[in-house]
Amino acid sequence: MSQNPPSLRPDLAPTARFSDAPRAGQPTIGMVSLGCPKALVDSERILTRLRAEGYGISPDYSGADAVIVNTCGFLDSAKAESLEAIGEALAENGRVIVTGCLGAEPEYITGAHPKVLAVTGPHQYEQVLDAVHKAVPPDPDPFIDLLPATGVSLTPRHYSYLKISEGCNHKCKFCIIPDMRGLLTSRPAKAVLREAEKLVESGVRELLVISQDTSAYGTDWKDRDEKFPILSLARDLGSLGAWVRMHYVYPYPHVRELVPLMADGLVLPYLDIPFQHAHPDTLKRMARPAAAARTLDEIAAWREICPDITLRSTFIVGYPGETEDEFQTLLDWMDEAQLDRVGCFQYENVDGARSNALPDHVPEEVKQDRWDRFMEKAQAISEAKLAAKVGQRMDVIIDDIDADGIATCRTKSDAPEIDGNLFIDEGTEGLSVGEIVSVEVDEAGEYDLWGRL
Ligand code: SF4
Repeated sequence: MSQNPPSLRPDLAPTARFSDAPRAGQPTIGMVSLGCPKALVDSERILTRLRAEGYGISPDYSGADAVIVNTCGFLDSAKAESLEAIGEALAENGRVIVTGCLGAEPEYITGAHPKVLAVTGPHQYEQVLDAVHKAVPPDPDPFIDLLPATGVSLTPRHYSYLKISEGCNHKCKFCIIPDMRGLLTSRPAKAVLREAEKLVESGVRELLVISQDTSAYGTDWKDRDEKFPILSLARDLGSLGAWVRMHYVYPYPHVRELVPLMADGLVLPYLDIPFQHAHPDTLKRMARPAAAARTLDEIAAWREICPDITLRSTFIVGYPGETEDEFQTLLDWMDEAQLDRVGCFQYENVDGARSNALPDHVPEEVKQDRWDRFMEKAQAISEAKLAAKVGQRMDVIIDDIDADGIATCRTKSDAPEIDGNLFIDEGTEGLSVGEIVSVEVDEAGEYDLWGRL
């Protein structure tokens, strides 16, 4: 029986594999993984997802709120070892979720260890996550979490989040992430790539790269070989044969070097890039890292390199001190920038944020009015952009096929859970979820498309 590396075994490993130390109060899970390489991929997959959901991963029993034991049931000796590992985890931690091959015989496990919290079978990735959510509820925080609010629902197997770093070196005044998550700590490129390779080997067709500051990846390494390690990481991820989608990319000048990888088809031509505002004074009061950047020039440069690029962004309206003039600048900027996808938030105080103390908070009704005007413009731009796609042929990935045969898909321009969909109403017999197919777009709405095979 092969075993996972010691760093994945709380029973063997005194220290974590990389700087992944849970912060105070963070829901934290331990993992003991026994069995074959396939089981190990499942273990890593589960840990990847939990990490993306905001769980900490504990290298020891005492630091974990619950422990997952991924078992092997291939030989009697493996079964005995699995039972022993469950017993040890129960004795050391007390809260144990069992999964893996031995989970196919739940009575065998509960007969020996009636106190286990849940037993799930081999490769039941979704059920294990479900059991973890029940045993140790996630602690979603819309102000610091990376996944959309619905992200704690189960991710289909054909796409996976890939977290490349934690924390942030900036000090935007409305944001408490640097206080909660600390300074930027990038995972070693080898660890990220290994995880990505395993995910692709296990059937993942789309990797969603997340972090608080993706373009800053690796800039916290003192002895790095290249100035911006995100460039080679993106290239390496792009060579794995899956769709690679970049989230939370800040508009630093070196993003121009990332865009050619999109034009070459290595990385999806999609940039999720939070601009937050367009007026230099508002950006300055926000203390945004890109306050001085000429973002319209950057956008024009990206589009010149990769005309198909889809730009998604988020904005805050009603930030303290935002004047009507500043807001109007944002609307005019939107007219020029013609972003494809846009999210907008009305400013809110967050406990501990420095912006709370700024003067001239904007009245609620003004925030609402600005939000309405902003969204009206964003929606009109989105609608026009989607209408222009009618008649085009494009690849889409299938996320779901319902009982009536209607397939819910996404184009390369749509990230799961936050962007739109493309629906195929007929002819989907024989297709399966996770498959990438070519369609011709025949109808467009405000946010979604319809197409035929
Ligand atoms: S760049 Fe600013 S908004 Fe983003 S995580 Fe860092 S401090 Fe927060």
